[in-house]
Order: sequence, then C-alpha cells, then structure tokens
Amino acid sequence: MVPIQMVDLKRQYLKIKTEVDEAIADVVQNTSFINGKAVTDFSAALGQFLDIEHVVPCANGTDALQIAMMAVGLEPGDEVITPSFTYIATTEVMALLRLNPVFVDVDPKTFCIDPSKIRAAITPKTKAIVPVHLYGQSAPMEEIMAIAKEFGLFVIEDNAQAIGATIQFSDGTVHLTGTIGDIGCTSFFPSKNLGCFGDGGAIVTRNASLADKMRMIANHGQSKRYYHDLVGCNSRLDSIQAAVLNIKLRHLNQYNEARRQAADFYSKAFASNPKIVTPFIAKGNTHVFHQYTLILNDCNRDELVGQLAAVGIPAMIYYPVPAHRQNMFSFLNLPAVDLPVTDWLTHRVVSLPIHTELDQDQLNFIVDHVNAFTK
Ligand SMILES: *Cc1c(COP(=O)(O)O)cnc(C)c1O
Repeated sequence: MVPIQMVDLKRQYLKIKTEVDEAIADVVQNTSFINGKAVTDFSAALGQFLDIEHVVPCANGTDALQIAMMAVGLEPGDEVITPSFTYIATTEVMALLRLNPVFVDVDPKTFCIDPSKIRAAITPKTKAIVPVHLYGQSAPMEEIMAIAKEFGLFVIEDNAQAIGATIQFSDGTVHLTGTIGDIGCTSFFPSKNLGCFGDGGAIVTRNASLADKMRMIANHGQSKRYYHDLVGCNSRLDSIQAAVLNIKLRHLNQYNEARRQAADFYSKAFASNPKIVTPFIAKGNTHVFHQYTLILNDCNRDELVGQLAAVGIPAMIYYPVPAHRQNMFSFLNLPAVDLPVTDWLTHRVVSLPIHTELDQDQLNFIVDHVNAFTK
C-alpha cells in the first residue's frame, strides 16, 4: 500500500506533471516573474470559476484578509465579529490592525459561527463580521447577510478552506462561498483545495471601488507608478504560482469531488460507530472537505492518534488551541469570554487524511483501524 499522508501533493502533481512543468518553464523562459501573463490569465479564470467580477491576486490568504479589512476602512478599536474556532490567521490580522476581535461561539454540528449568537455580540462599535467556512463547508451565510444588512456591517468571508463550496438560500438560489459577502478571501497554500507550489492568495468582490482600493493596498497604496495615496503593503501572487494555479483550477471541481467521495466512504464506514460523530452537512450545502473532521465521544483522543500513528495513519487536531485562548490575545483581556462549544470541540475533534489521491486500499485500511481503535 502507498504510505498514507494527510495530503498527498506528490501523487497529485505526477498526474498533471507535463502541463505544470511546461507552464512553469514558460514563465522562466519569459522571465515575467511578477505580474506576468500567467497572473492576468489566472485572475480572469478564477473570476469566471467563481462567477465574480473582480479578482485581486495577492501573496497569501493572511494578506488577503488583512487587505480586505484595510479596504473597508476599519479603524483601531472597531469590533469585528468572528469565530475563535479557526486557523489563527483570521483573527491575527485583526490584532495587527488594532481591531478588536469579538469571538462568537460556533455551531457544534457545522463547526461554523452560530448566527443565533451574533446579535448579542453586536455593539455600537461593531463594523464587520468575518465568517469562516471551516473545513470546507459554508457558514450560514443567509442568516449572516441578513444580520449584516440590518446593522450595516461589512461581511468579509474567510474562504481559505472552502473554494468551490456552495450554499443554497431559502429562495432556491445557489451561491459559491467567498462570493456572498462584500469581500471573499482565499489562500492557495499548497495543502488547500486549490494549492500552488508555494504561497498565494486572492481577494474577490463584486464592488469595483473596493477592488480598486484593494489592488492599490496590495501594491504599496500606489495609484500610479511612484505615487502612493494610501499606506499599503507589498502582496503579490508571483507568475510561477499563477501558472501552476491556472492548470490546477481546471481540475478543481474534480479534486473537490474526489475529496467528497473519500469523505462519503468514511462517513458510511463510521455510521454505526457510537464513538464517532461524522461531519454534518447542512441542508443545501455542498461540502468540499478541506478537512474530514470527526467528533469523538467518550474516547481518549491522544491514545487514538498515537495508535493510528503506530500503524502509519496520520491524524491531526485542527486546532488544539482556539484563538481566544492564544497568548497572542492576552492584551485583549479575554478570560471573560465564554465559548463552551468552541472549548468542547477543541477537546474532541480529530481530522483524518483527506485529499485527492486516497485510494481504496488506503481508505479501507484507515476505516478498519479507526473502527478497531474506537470500539
Ligand atoms: C490557510 C488559512 C488562512 C491563511 O492562509 P495563508 O495562505 O496560509 O496565509 C486563513 N484562514 C484560514 C481559515 C485558513 O485555513
């Protein structure tokens, strides 16, 4: 059996090696390393894939979030509602911009921000909501957008884990994650569902003036060459990464489908295991399974992870410490924050290998061992 990895980037690359190698060689031949044709082509292709007008490529997903928050004019002391149960980047950029993250608990079934708890967190200082489509499933965007409209708040979607996921609203319309709020931010970190061969990111919006402003911010606040109107940063997607992404974007739907099939196999195999709660897919959502994350009942998680590791099955905890308990935020005086669901999940979740290259032998091996070690 092929050794099992959390993500098997090598085998994925080998399937598209010729195309990818040619695309990279082309950039090298042209030496158009920054803002080359590959970047323009990829931005257009991503806009088409997401059916959205404006795509601003940038250096990584963290920058995407930072640039988005800068573009909507958030100021020090403004409050931003966001989950604590997420990767640190979502909230780290808030601290960097001297914004105050207001952590709201998540839904124990979907792992995403619980809309019923957002209202109570709104104060006169609240300016934005940053939902995270955690593990590849949309946050409840219909409720979030309704609240944002009622209170005049910006919505910036952290779509780093869910590119290609959709949600259906009650009027029957289907929306791609990242295209619903004012701005969507994504990451092309290698292990993401659409990953490049280094760092990369993008910001998308339907709002032309926000797009212009984000383009400026990502380029030293420059309006025309050597004229700088805003304090910005230097955040570029380089041409080699864009060339790789151009090829991989063509396969994204198929990649997401492969992840869904692996997830479906897992969930069927664990359905009758009382120690395991398999991922819940909210009605109307298509999940793209950036992670396949279980909740363990009455089970020693460390022991399970150790037993799995001993037979060659990696398993990870995403994330062992929620944002509101990170030392980084000690300046915010957060002990009063009570997020029982976040804390509960933090102690019980475990993620199994999920990627585009899992074969049937590997899947059988994983489910047999997980079932054996948890029963
Ligand atoms: C990966 C990720 C980011 C950051 O993306 P980078 O490209 O690594 O900077 C932000 N938010 C979430 C939820 C992520 O998973």
